[in-house]
Amino acid sequence: MKTSYWLVDKNVDTKHSYPQIQQAADLLKKNEVIAFPTETVYGLGGNAKDDDAIKKIFAAKGRPSDNPLIIHIAKQEQLAEIVEEIPEVAQKLMASFWPGALTIIFRAKKGTLSQYATAGLQTVAVRMPDHPVALKLLEEVDLPIAAPSANRSGKPSPTTALHVKEDLDQIIAGIVDGGPTGVGVESTVIDCTDLLPVILRPGGITKEQIEELVGEVGLDPALINKESKPKAPGMKYSHYAPNAPMFLVNGTKERIQCLVDEERNKGKKVGLLTTEENKSYYDADYIFACGKRAELHSVAASLYEGLRSFNHQDVEIIFCEMFPLEGVGQAIMNRLMKAASHQVMD
Ligand code: AMP
Ligand code: MG
Repeated sequence: MKTSYWLVDKNVDTKHSYPQIQQAADLLKKNEVIAFPTETVYGLGGNAKDDDAIKKIFAAKGRPSDNPLIIHIAKQEQLAEIVEEIPEVAQKLMASFWPGALTIIFRAKKGTLSQYATAGLQTVAVRMPDHPVALKLLEEVDLPIAAPSANRSGKPSPTTALHVKEDLDQIIAGIVDGGPTGVGVESTVIDCTDLLPVILRPGGITKEQIEELVGEVGLDPALINKESKPKAPGMKYSHYAPNAPMFLVNGTKERIQCLVDEERNKGKKVGLLTTEENKSYYDADYIFACGKRAELHSVAASLYEGLRSFNHQDVEIIFCEMFPLEGVGQAIMNRLMKAASHQVMD
């Protein structure tokens, strides 16, 4: 399939950008699937009401069919059509964090969305993205759009249109290029179908931010204990992994350099994921500095770029520094643990 490519400005109403966004919206209305930027990562969108469109998303990504999709909307009024009820706590969360990197799980209204989009569950995940291109596109289509990250399943999520191209060129109908995304990690997923809201996936909006607004919330036990079954079906799958085996190191820079040296002495090409503060200390075959440790948001923003870059360098083993579990550090460590298949060295 030929993949259309539209380069658009964040200033979406210009003579240049608007017609391109319309073209992308037209394809969505025809139940084709296209990639578009959001503030978290690039999404692969399709009409959430149409079985064929949703099947195309799953096929393009190679995504397991039991992993439901997040439904994207541009206006809160669109919720009434797809959810059974809007709990008070969800109202509060939406008022503060939408548009933004927070996905809310509601009880689904029967028969409005494709059952493939919700993987047959009685609940549905919904979010309003905070990106002018995404919002304009959603407004133009005027349909709920299911959009998982626009990568092949298992790979790091795409934070640029080039990443999308690497994975999905000639496989999807189009890519809207709106430049690099900002947040860099996916949305936080919070289940509001029970009395106590529970975070199922840490992401762009932090637990601290949520608790400041609504009081204590729960954490899915699977986020702490690897043996528990995650409530978000997608959280059980391996994800974000570079081609080479990766190890997180819970230790000093000296310890990390020692591990690098050992592997290089065995003749291996060694990659290292570090931060701006520490990068000049190390000697390795390939070093990626992922933002500043003192500003965890900058680490989140370039995390997937870093994970992807190891594949272009043909490294044979990767070591990675660890990050504090505070703020967006929760999401960073969650993704790194998955990328490293939970392999941590002390
Ligand atoms: P992605 O679209 O790849 O960013 O992933 C969306 C995440 O939300 C996956 O982990 C899904 O399993 C999860 N998710 C989507 N819908 C639901 C739902 N109704 N209940 C629980 N988790 C969900
Ligand atoms: Mg994903």
